[in-house]
Amino acid sequence: MEEQAIVTAPVLPKYNLNEEQEKKEILRHYRALLRALRPKLKKGDKELVRHAFEMAADAHKTMRRKSGEPYIIHPIAVAMICVEEIGLGIRSTICALLHDTVEDTDLSLEDVEREFGHEIARIVDGLTKISNVIDTNTSQQAENFKKILLTLTDDPRVILIKLADRLHNMRTLDSMKREKQLKISSETVWVYAPLAHRMGLYNVKTELEDLSMKYMEPETYKEIARKLAETKRERTRYINEFIRPIKDKLESGDLDFEIYGRPKSIHSIWNKIKKKGVAFEEVYDLFAIRIILNSPHSREKEDCWKVYSIITDEYTPSPERLRDWLSNPKSNGYEALHTTVMGPQGKWVEVQIRSKRMNEIAEKGLAAHYKYKEGSSDEDRFDKWFGQIREVLNNQDTDSVDFLQDFKMSFLAEEIYVYTPKGDVKMLPIGSTALDFAFSIHSAVGTKCIGAKINHKLVPISHKLRSGDQVEIITSNKQKPSDDWLNFVVTAKAKNKIKDALKEVKRTIAEEGKYILQRKLEGMGAAFVQTNVDTLVAFYKFHSQLDFYYQVAIKALDLKELKEFNVLGDKLEPPKPPKPQVHELAVEPVPHYSKKDSELIIFGESSDKIMYNLAKCCNPIPGDDVFGFVSTGKGLIIHRTNCPNAPSLLSNYGHRVVKTKWAKNKAISFLTGLKIIGMDDVGVVNKITNVISGDLRVNISAMTIESHDGLFEGTIKVFVHDKEELEELVIRLKQLKGIHLVDRFDAEKV
Ligand code: MN
Repeated sequence: MEEQAIVTAPVLPKYNLNEEQEKKEILRHYRALLRALRPKLKKGDKELVRHAFEMAADAHKTMRRKSGEPYIIHPIAVAMICVEEIGLGIRSTICALLHDTVEDTDLSLEDVEREFGHEIARIVDGLTKISNVIDTNTSQQAENFKKILLTLTDDPRVILIKLADRLHNMRTLDSMKREKQLKISSETVWVYAPLAHRMGLYNVKTELEDLSMKYMEPETYKEIARKLAETKRERTRYINEFIRPIKDKLESGDLDFEIYGRPKSIHSIWNKIKKKGVAFEEVYDLFAIRIILNSPHSREKEDCWKVYSIITDEYTPSPERLRDWLSNPKSNGYEALHTTVMGPQGKWVEVQIRSKRMNEIAEKGLAAHYKYKEGSSDEDRFDKWFGQIREVLNNQDTDSVDFLQDFKMSFLAEEIYVYTPKGDVKMLPIGSTALDFAFSIHSAVGTKCIGAKINHKLVPISHKLRSGDQVEIITSNKQKPSDDWLNFVVTAKAKNKIKDALKEVKRTIAEEGKYILQRKLEGMGAAFVQTNVDTLVAFYKFHSQLDFYYQVAIKALDLKELKEFNVLGDKLEPPKPPKPQVHELAVEPVPHYSKKDSELIIFGESSDKIMYNLAKCCNPIPGDDVFGFVSTGKGLIIHRTNCPNAPSLLSNYGHRVVKTKWAKNKAISFLTGLKIIGMDDVGVVNKITNVISGDLRVNISAMTIESHDGLFEGTIKVFVHDKEELEELVIRLKQLKGIHLVDRFDAEKV
């Protein structure tokens, strides 16, 4: 009854086949794939799959895998996993067949797009970009992982196909060098297995973990596998003894069911041995009893509880080990009822009860989940999860290694569910505190949180939450975030928001330091100019100007050394001769400002350097001709020289105008708007968005299209890096058929 738990590497055929035999072998794999796809094939699909197969086979024709087999066997196998083990369809099959072509062969993304269209090209592109997670450099690896996640939220199929790719590579890892085996295996347990878990692919996750362990801990792996095999007969006898009485009762209870014992994975048994510090013989739950019910959707929950009732009539349950994922499914979609009961001979046995539908979701995860989603009014947990990931990805400016840690904690960890005072459920990663909960409600609640009531009892903000807790947050307007908060929050959202808030506080304090420094410098006859500040930042070994000002402000830095600095090094520049007269400035247009002007301000390099704001009246972007205007209270405001307000500002307040110049910076983007008018035509929106986000990879912030009488008028808000990028965008849009006018307008005025 019990299945064999040992993962055996497939026996690779010896590749001493001749060309003819090899061709037959490839076709045999391909036909098996088609057979698996048959129930899903619609008219024309077969030809598409065949086309993808032929294209991939041709592109890879000179390549071989390490095992010696023709390379094309790999993409076919990956496609097979997608279909059979993950439940994906035709389009994913095509992507899987092509997944290594753009990366490794002469085929280009354009070829794929031309033959299979935009959707498939996008997925293949995603798979190409994340093909290089392996890197010796951790930060590089983390950076790559971030990319995976970005693509993931783009289209989840990318990550599902990637998991299939990884699974096949793990299954065929034998032919790799030892060093490579270790690297790939550790990456697999670290990133891919948790991802598979998070996507609800339990079987894939388990196999990835077991395969990794096989390479990383070969001795232990073999030993546990051997012991499992040795004790198999004894275990089967016990399982049968356990099942016998309940099977009879279930049958008389008019239930259509399957019941069997299922061994736990070697990796999970090993975890238990390590965690509990016990020997193999003392691990009691080497298997679980699984009951799969064939119940109609409307009755499945009721039937699960009926089974629960029958089992606990026979065996005593352990009350604290009841897991009800029927009422509260896990956020990866998992639904089931788990209980642990005292079986024969006083042994604890875990029993998992679920319907056929739930079982399919447990095995095939996301894809199966979407299949059942239609018609359900439940808020979709996956969409919610993707939404949260997107939010964190957009928000964070931490370095990627930190980010990865945060991410693993926030999104890949097991979850608890807690309740708001009104009874709404919130999912949080295990280890979350009251403060994490506060931030999950709103960042304003988080930053003002001074404590919480858990099940009506007052606790500190660092209190760790447990499943089922009801949490009420207590806030105070006097509260301010502090550094130590970072030590006890685990969610990425809370971390980012706290960091942002701390930075804001620091900025305000740093302003004070800036003035202290300015007075000091001027007092000793040096100029308060960027070059001098840079010299000092370097001298005191600070990472940023902000840190420097901040340390000056909180008096952690003694500026006495400054004097010596000047005497010894004489490196600080004296002030430049006084500026030209005010009225001269007023009449001279900004672009013709004297090049020698000492007030050359470079901004855009780092937002820490100079605080500035972009004028709302003209929304400048880098590349525009601009000037800075020192406003009262709001600091430096940047206007375009052709801003409607410019003439008045320049002529009346010339003394408050500073010359400004853009620094090259591709990391910051600016919101601007485009107005488009053209002929209304099917697919016009698609064409426009393809140019913007597809070809030029510009982010769209908002878009409205209105059409009447055969014409359409659209406004699009986009994030661009500079004027050049915007101009290219305009040119490209104008080239589209049927477009009459493309013009810039200022986004915030819409
Ligand atoms: Mn591959």
